[in-house]
Parts: sequence; C-alpha cells; structure tokens
Amino acid sequence: SKVYLNGEWLKPEEAKISVFDRGFLFGDGIYEVIPFYSGKLFLLKEHLQRLRYSLNEVELQCDISDFESIILKAIELTELNAADGAIYIQVSRGMAPRTHYFPENYDATVLVYAYKTNLRGFQNQFKDVLVSNDLRWHRCDIKSVSLMANILANTEAKKSDFSENIMIRDGYFTEGSHSSLFFVKDESVYTHPNGKFILPGITRNLLIKLCKENNIVIVEKALPVSELDEVTEVFITGTTTQITAIKNLHFPDRIINFGNDIGKVTRRLQLLFCEEVKKRTGV
Ligand code: PLP
Repeated sequence: SKVYLNGEWLKPEEAKISVFDRGFLFGDGIYEVIPFYSGKLFLLKEHLQRLRYSLNEVELQCDISDFESIILKAIELTELNAADGAIYIQVSRGMAPRTHYFPENYDATVLVYAYKTNLRGFQNQFKDVLVSNDLRWHRCDIKSVSLMANILANTEAKKSDFSENIMIRDGYFTEGSHSSLFFVKDESVYTHPNGKFILPGITRNLLIKLCKENNIVIVEKALPVSELDEVTEVFITGTTTQITAIKNLHFPDRIINFGNDIGKVTRRLQLLFCEEVKKRTGV
C-alpha cells in the first residue's frame, strides 16, 4: 500500500514529515474522512466542500483541485477497488520556525491514504455510550486535527468498553466525540443545529435530507438534558459509524435505557440510508 505525501506516493514507513511541521507542533491542521463502498466513493463532493470550508476558516492556503484524482489513486494503489473503506486526508500549515502566529508563505503538508474498514452490519449494533462534559473550544464546526478534548473524553468511554461518548455543553446535548447525535421525541427527530458547537456532519446532513423527503419531522434544535425522559430513541451518525442505535446512556450517577430493541424511527432511517448508499454508489 502507498500513502500520498506532498506529491509523492510512498510506502507508509518511508513517509516522513519535519519535526517543525506546524501540524506536529501546534495541531495546526485540518482533516477529512471520506467513505467508499466496494471502492465507490460516497458523498465525495460534500466532504471536499467541508474540507474547503475548514481550510478557509483557519486561512490555511492549499490548492485542493487535484484531491479527487489523488483520492481515486489512493484507492487503486492500496488495491481497495472492491473493498469497503475510507480515505484519510490531512492538510497542515507546513514547516516553519515555531511561532504562534503563522507565516505568510508556506507549503502546506498534504497527506492522503486509503484504508480498509468494515461498513456493513451497523444495523445489528445497539450500543452503550458514556455521557461527558463538552470541553471543546467554540469552533467545533472546523474539522481541526487538534482533538485533545475529543480524545480525552473518548478514552474515558473506552475505559468502560464503550466506543463513543456523547457530550453536554451548558445543559444541552451537542454531539459525540466523533459522531453526530440524534434523539427521537414525540415521533420527531431532534438534532443540534449547525453552528459553532458541532461539526456539520456529512452523514447528519444526509439524514436531515432523508427525513424531509420522507415526511419524518426533523427539528434542528438542541435537546436540553432535562427533556431526556421524553426521549424514546437515541442514535449517532458518522462516516464510519453510519447510523448506530444507542441502548443505554451512562451518566456518572445513573443509566438511562432506551429499550431492548432498536426503535422504529432509527430502523426506518437505517433502511433509507442503505437505499441512498445503493443509489449513489451502485453497490
Ligand atoms: N462530529 C464529530 C465531532 C466528528 O468528528 C464526526 C466525524 O468524524 C462527526 C460529527 C460525523 O461527521 P461525518 O458524518 O461527516 O463523518
């Protein structure tokens, strides 16, 4: 397998970056993860658009016009043309003497690689998650590689064998450490509105569209923790998470259960999602 680094295709062990790379020194970089099903990319344009947005928001200069062909080549060189997997892209603000302010001129460091991952069978999962405080900054809409708050919270979840944690900011649920968050209440689907406190999830945006097209009421409004007892279903979404149903929420002092079977709204959305994957990728 080969990884793309600054114009070259290299064996992973041969791909090296400078110790003065700002991505390494400051976490001064942006990333993106794009899924592919049987080698066919899903929602590529939407992901590249979000990458462009994040780069612009942090004034990171990088021409991404050839990224589509790099991505296709990454799948090919990793021999994943018939496999399910994802593309990882990272762009950092390159190498410069260490100052907090960034230099006017620099060559962005660009890393792209493809990897295999299991994208089937998410419908069979009914998971427990940890509930934690949202300690992230106020620009969660930027897909920054600085993920300290996310990794600390997710590691706490992992200690209890949970794969994800969901977060609360000022009494309202925001999202997961690496997933978007949805609730079902009175047959309506609730999710935190886009803005500075969540990442505009590509899967989330697709789900909102699917709700609208299928007469499922979708409310983009943050759910206060105090209304949790009115909630009948919880699920999380993401590029590799897809649509995963949540069985129990683990608070420090209590566990809230959402039944023994996956709820019917979650089930319906999982089916609609699978149809959409089929429609857009042909597999
Ligand atoms: N929210 C956060 C914080 C994430 O890191 C991710 C994905 O990694 C998501 C939401 C889900 O976004 P997407 O559906 O684009 O993968």
